[in-house]
Amino acid sequence: MKVAIIGTGHVGLTTAACFASIGHEVVGVDSDREKLDRIIRGEVPFFEPGLTELTRTQIDSGRLTFTHSIAEATQQAEALFICVGTPARATGEANLVYVEAVAREIASSLPGYRLVAEKSTVPVETGEWVRMTMQRHNRSGAEFDVASNPEFLREGNAIHDTLKPDRIVAGVSSERAARVLREVYEPIIKETGCPFLITDIRTAELIKHASNAFLATKISFANALAAVCERAGADVELVTEAMGADLRIGRAFLHAGAGYGGACFPKDVDAFIHRSKELGYRFGLLEEVAKINEQTRASVVAKVRRVLWNLEHKKIAVLGLAFKPDTDDVRNAPSLDVCQRLIKGGAEVRAWDPQAIEEAKAVAPEINYCADAEEALRGADCVVLMTEWDEFRRFTPAKLKSLLAHPIVVDARNFYDPAEMAAAGFTYVSVGRPIVGEVPSRK
Ligand code: NAD
Repeated sequence: MKVAIIGTGHVGLTTAACFASIGHEVVGVDSDREKLDRIIRGEVPFFEPGLTELTRTQIDSGRLTFTHSIAEATQQAEALFICVGTPARATGEANLVYVEAVAREIASSLPGYRLVAEKSTVPVETGEWVRMTMQRHNRSGAEFDVASNPEFLREGNAIHDTLKPDRIVAGVSSERAARVLREVYEPIIKETGCPFLITDIRTAELIKHASNAFLATKISFANALAAVCERAGADVELVTEAMGADLRIGRAFLHAGAGYGGACFPKDVDAFIHRSKELGYRFGLLEEVAKINEQTRASVVAKVRRVLWNLEHKKIAVLGLAFKPDTDDVRNAPSLDVCQRLIKGGAEVRAWDPQAIEEAKAVAPEINYCADAEEALRGADCVVLMTEWDEFRRFTPAKLKSLLAHPIVVDARNFYDPAEMAAAGFTYVSVGRPIVGEVPSRK
């Protein structure tokens, strides 16, 4: 089938390359000319394991092409997927101007029936607005359907999640729309047997916000639990492991750490709170989830103060800037928030990340970025571990000790084993676990 993907960012480019790999003829569109030109040359402008290779293979096969023009893509493709950004406004609500712009442009050049599917994460009722916008700008009077096809991929696992999804949600208002979406996904359904859930559009939109909000709730629950464990002298890792062994609860996302970040959870939780309020329901549970997330970030800084006393004149190494491993995404990353608070407190922050330095530099130039992890660690008063990159495993306690001015670690991801840190003579503060070494008692 001929398919168009509008917006070739993390979601759009992954979807485009994966759809081409299952046999569709895909045309990708992006309003950012420079970005699209790089992609056309086979350069993926962000880090996603395997995506550069997949994109190049699909371009070479001739099944994946690109254009700067939505009108041109609308001529070619029967199904168009909107994958543009839906960032937060200052109020927390989702900014849908990019979605509206795309809907308008598609409608202005409809040559005949087209299915327009929202893949961007949008608040409930956006489908109504997309349909009405298209109606107003539909000069040819051609038939069209709007659908909601929310995306659940995780950065760092994007190709796997697209080709082997847990479920595909098709929010539709006609049988024809359901048929077209089913045809797009048929090769994946055949290969994996994953459920293809047909709902109305509003329900599909809500499924996405509800899913992200629930995962964020699990993370904040684990972090609130960690705060209690720290005060009670218990170990949150053992508590969550035992909880997670109960299949009704599950282990996934029940991890204490530095809190959630990235391009999705913070904005989606805020947008869901905002939309619920507009609909007349105050989602107090989610307000608390967001508040706990904020407190979790602040608590990392409090822990640094606890082990270093004053921040002024202290050199602090920060390992990890990406909001999670295997991505270079620093959007709403807890690390940047923590670095900025430490700098504000008077510390010199020396940061390093295997992938995300350039992205971090663009939004947080006040941080001192190092050429490698060793440079960040050498002579630092303590290290704060913010992202659990696998390659940090080479920094064994012995290696850390040889580089740091003092053997002090604040581990915001529970990356290290407290017993090993104790044996190596560290002062070691992690999340929701007893402190190792000597720190003043908290009154
Ligand atoms: P992104 O910022 O990486 O990409 C969005 C792209 O859309 C950009 O390249 C931008 O130039 C392009 N764009 C904006 N306006 C356009 C227009 N009028 N015409 C053509 N292109 C336009 O964003 P993303 O991370 O891919 O997220 C896209 C959507 O998917 C968001 O709603 C997000 O919440 C959702 N989502 C993201 C993820 C994720 O892990 N990143 C996962 C699931 C869902």
